[in-house]
Amino acid sequence: MLIAAIGAAAGAAGLAAWAVRGKSSQLLAPAVWRGPRDAAGFALTFDDGPSESTPRLLNILARHNARATFFVCGANVRRLPSVAREIVAAGHEIACHGDVHPYYHFRGAAFLRRDIGGGMDAIQTATGITPRWFRPPYGIRWFGMRPVLRELHLELAMWTVIGRDWKLPASEIAAAIRPELRPGAIVCLHDGRILTANPNIDNTLDATRQILEVAPPAFTLSRLFVSPWE
Ligand SMILES: [Zn+2]
Repeated sequence: MLIAAIGAAAGAAGLAAWAVRGKSSQLLAPAVWRGPRDAAGFALTFDDGPSESTPRLLNILARHNARATFFVCGANVRRLPSVAREIVAAGHEIACHGDVHPYYHFRGAAFLRRDIGGGMDAIQTATGITPRWFRPPYGIRWFGMRPVLRELHLELAMWTVIGRDWKLPASEIAAAIRPELRPGAIVCLHDGRILTANPNIDNTLDATRQILEVAPPAFTLSRLFVSPWE
């Protein structure tokens, strides 16, 4: 109903689609999509892990002294709790990407609460950490998300640039990201492929190597932003 009203008011369905999926949309829940331009580096973020391939990524990050924020799926954390703990032990930030990576549009608030809360529970059980950040699966925000995030004290983070690393070759991923590597940028890549076990993330690993060879320092999201809850 509301989305129809938004669409009608704009005279176009385009605005409604932007409200749900646009990286800078604040309509359905407040979100960050870039950090301060005077930051000392950029934020590197990885979604859809942990996967069996995540330890290889951790080695690459360690070699470049880079830190990242990992938006993990609860179901993947339950499959690989020790990899979730490895992420934390290596000095990276762990964040919530929901539980089973569903589409959130046309779902009720109870569905959102169950998926986001399920992801939080899995992370807390495996690592003892209560994440600060949330990124919705497919970047989709929906009605009812705002009160759930408020209840769980979660901040919503989108991205400045997304690598489309689930389908592009490494050279194209790196070429798309490099021009966006300004201070405060938030880069989104993937160390898993939704809930697939043993995913092939070679393109992501190669692209990460290429990016870190030329990039300014890579930080966690929390290095870029001071928490409003502190
Ligand atoms: Zn995802």
